[in-house]
Amino acid sequence: MPRALITGIAGQDGSYLADLLLEDGTDVVGLIRAEDRDGPNLAHLTGRVRLVEGDLLDPASLRAAVGDVEPDELYHLAAPTFVPASWDDPTTTVAAIAGATSTILAAARETDPAMRVYVATSSEIFGDAGVSPQDEDSPKRPRSPYGVAKLAAHQLIALLRERHGQHVSAGITFNHESPRRPPHFVPRKITRGAAAISLGLQDELRLGDLGAQRDWTDARDVVRGAVLALRHDVPGDYVFASGVPRTVKDLVDAAFAHVGVDPAGRVVVDPEFVRPPEPTQLLGDPTRAREVLGWEPRIGFAQMIGEMVETDLAELRAAG
Ligand code: GDP
Repeated sequence: MPRALITGIAGQDGSYLADLLLEDGTDVVGLIRAEDRDGPNLAHLTGRVRLVEGDLLDPASLRAAVGDVEPDELYHLAAPTFVPASWDDPTTTVAAIAGATSTILAAARETDPAMRVYVATSSEIFGDAGVSPQDEDSPKRPRSPYGVAKLAAHQLIALLRERHGQHVSAGITFNHESPRRPPHFVPRKITRGAAAISLGLQDELRLGDLGAQRDWTDARDVVRGAVLALRHDVPGDYVFASGVPRTVKDLVDAAFAHVGVDPAGRVVVDPEFVRPPEPTQLLGDPTRAREVLGWEPRIGFAQMIGEMVETDLAELRAAG
């Protein structure tokens, strides 16, 4: 039975990845911060996975975890995730993303040079790429400290692969959502708002730019891609994205349609949530993942948003 170590198992992606690996009989160990032990995504995994503690800002704890667990497969998903927050503390962002990736990769090589590693990088590495859609070879000009840190991690992966022959793959993940997504990200904010309005718990939903555009995929599809990448004979970089551009307004329309409420007059643009416009349209080209790994998204946009709204309705009813 192969053993996998998942950093960030308490998060959206880590917990879905654990579900997927448990299904195929993999022995799963998760790395968590002490304070995440009671996190909502871990409850259903209790007794089915082993948890070890570690902190991205404490390299010794990461080395100890990798060395003690000795996994066959290491999925490094743990990272700060909210892009705007990276402006508040670029130093910590770089340490927690680039520094921790470097530590994890070195620990993997020291523990077992044949250990397979997957690291989640991000579409934020493209920033002002100047071309759209973006594939693995597109220019990378990040526009946030988060993007800079992810690009450092991304380039380190390629370098170590070349230098040491390490089996490390990078997933260039575009935005991905699910019923386990926290509400400060706009899709969950919208599904939660639509659910609350339909239940009469809230009158309006305050958002930023409704024309802002992203490429949204379901998190369960993205973690399936991670496993395919890690288990492929040859390591590489892969864009995981839908390849379909959508706007915040598309999210609003899908979520409100699901609850049968007209969003007109219910959605208010609030300057507090408006961010500077992006110079390059962020859109993924997942051709390589499809051709090399046979990967493509299985969960469509409307289904994903519908499931998120249903989860919000259930949670709000249970709370009320
Ligand atoms: P990000 O792509 O990782 O920053 O994910 P988010 O879900 O936070 O934001 C996605 C897009 O939605 C960005 O272009 C935001 O500017 C836009 N957006 C519009 N209104 C909102 C809002 O109220 N909250 C958030 N978080 N984003 C918003």
